Amino acid sequence: MKNLHNALQLKQLHILKQLGYNYTDTVPSELEADSMDLPNTMAKLLDATQACHLCELSKSRQKTVFGEGNENADILFVGEGPGATEDSTGRPFVGRSGEVLTKMIENVLHIPRSQVYIANIVKCRPPDNRTPTESEAHTCRPFLQKQIALIKPRIIVTLGATAYRYLTNDDSPISRVRGTIIQGDGHKIIPTFHPSYLLRNPSAKKEVLSDLLKVKELL
Ligand code: URA
Repeated sequence: MKNLHNALQLKQLHILKQLGYNYTDTVPSELEADSMDLPNTMAKLLDATQACHLCELSKSRQKTVFGEGNENADILFVGEGPGATEDSTGRPFVGRSGEVLTKMIENVLHIPRSQVYIANIVKCRPPDNRTPTESEAHTCRPFLQKQIALIKPRIIVTLGATAYRYLTNDDSPISRVRGTIIQGDGHKIIPTFHPSYLLRNPSAKKEVLSDLLKVKELL
């Protein structure tokens, strides 16, 4: 058993070296024991995320952005990935897009932001706010899937094309699928535009309003 443990640690150190790391903190025991088995509590899942170096994004991040909100929420909002403000604070949607998202939740759904859960497809900021690569999104997906399994939301609202694509494996244009109700595994998925799109295209607010009214009806 000890040999296996040492071999796994050595393997991880080799991977880190290939990624260009010369130093790493010790890894929590859950990841050492079996990196495929993610922990079953949010607190331990958060630790596992913070210790993750499985993709290039871990090299440039300041903080991982795990997600936040009510762990028993009926609604989960999923965005693309952290921006600069999120990277420096460790919290999702706290920049300009975050202001828009908070208004969408509080002024349209009439629930406090703290009562929903907010997460992203990738937990670390893509440099220059580029779209996460397919490999980065797939590498990070188990963390989001585990969050979904723990929260058990009734509705997942995907924000923008990237969140929709990686949660449904469908790359239809967001303008075509937004506002549709998709039956997922134990939850419904409602895609809508990303808040940053609304900042650039304020006229799309009416579509988002109509999508959120569907969320309200389903509740
Ligand atoms: N955009 C996202 O997709 N997620 C965030 O957390 C912030 C901005």
